Amino acid sequence: MPSSQQLTILGSTGSIGQSTLDVVRRHPGRYRIAALCAHRQIDLLFEQCLEFRPRYAVLGERVLAEALALRLGAANLDTEVRHGAAALEEMAALPEADAVMAAIVGAAGLPSALAAARAGKKILLANKEALVMAGPVFMRAVREHGARLLPIDSEHNAIFQALPPDFDGDLLKKGVRRLLLTASGGPFRTWSRADLEKVTPQQAVAHPRWSMGKKISVDSATLMNKGLEVIEAHWLFNAPASMIEVVVHPQSIIHSLVEYADGSLLAQLGNPDMRTPIAHALAHPERIDSGVAALDLFQLARLDFEAPDKERFPCLALAFRALELGGNAPALLNAANEIAVEAFLEGKIGFTEIARVVAATLAADSLIAGAPLESLDEVLAADTAARRFAAEWIARLEKRERMF
Ligand code: NAD
Ligand code: MG
Repeated sequence: MPSSQQLTILGSTGSIGQSTLDVVRRHPGRYRIAALCAHRQIDLLFEQCLEFRPRYAVLGERVLAEALALRLGAANLDTEVRHGAAALEEMAALPEADAVMAAIVGAAGLPSALAAARAGKKILLANKEALVMAGPVFMRAVREHGARLLPIDSEHNAIFQALPPDFDGDLLKKGVRRLLLTASGGPFRTWSRADLEKVTPQQAVAHPRWSMGKKISVDSATLMNKGLEVIEAHWLFNAPASMIEVVVHPQSIIHSLVEYADGSLLAQLGNPDMRTPIAHALAHPERIDSGVAALDLFQLARLDFEAPDKERFPCLALAFRALELGGNAPALLNAANEIAVEAFLEGKIGFTEIARVVAATLAADSLIAGAPLESLDEVLAADTAARRFAAEWIARLEKRERMF
């Protein structure tokens, strides 16, 4: 067995963070926790510190960090507590950390994921928004600093597993014809357009196959999640949009496929449980127990496939559009979507208005810049501008609703 690996977990209290700790828990001695980072969930972070005894713990604000430090002190733990965004970047670059699980949700996770890349870490990337916003900047940092990028998103992890182990970014050289990303279709796959107008936040966060955080659950329901994943696949595997196809597969058993020139389709199958890709990436190139039950093919009996309906779910087409536009468009798409999803969850806008806000932002000539993004500052400038634009658009929508 290799010597124990030290791990920083960014977003340890989230769905992916907790699943990661569950895999770690199954392999005492193999993994040690250098740092656990969360935002506000002090009670859960405290419990996690008691169990995993990290050298550092991070919370979003000073008052929370002070409260945690007191509780850890009273429990005789010498975990050092930090707070704020700069601490996340510091934890991502800790000299003793071999690997960093990037599992913060949304744009908030970009600077720390990038810091891990710049420190040349093994990065287990769950935070797809980081790659969507900052694709060229992130991938350049990975290359220039010798970081190793392992996808946690189940589709990309499946593709990674179905590609040859010596894949170096040239799909054609490896005889790859297409990447097929599977999508469950979300909870409203069969709903009419009229019914989609009435979807409530509660309905949208209840995913039929996967148990996940709120933001990604809403993204799965609008199919924006698949759109973000198309852009993620573009950067991870150097695949043009024309080589990426989305296939709706309601059972979520095939996690994605690679189609080769000879007609072979290589797929990765398994029960829908994120502990499989997490265990795969943690142990790569070895295989370890993840706690996920083996797939029972007899019970499964059948697998279904259909084409996505881009009319009822316009977010998927918007993401393809952003990828084609290039430049800052994916960053605008991501930021507008984050603002719109938040507004939907707060009851400010309807479900189908999420796509309208994103479409309006992508259509704003004043925001679009075609040149490839070169720096984190440029990415954050696009992010800020799109957030402002989307928020104003939503405010106008709300005002109109109050008038009628
Ligand atoms: P979640 O909402 O359950 O957890 C988010 C985590 O991020 C929490 O630990 C929270 O404390 C932390 N966080 C939030 N805002 C923060 C901020 N401003 N600063 C620091 N920390 C902050 O989300 P999740 O479902 O675990 O998803 C995490 C990421 O993984 C997302 O990018 C998501 O798209 C991706 N992902 C999740 C799944 C899944 O099954 N949950 C699958 C594939 C990809
Ligand atoms: Mg996914």
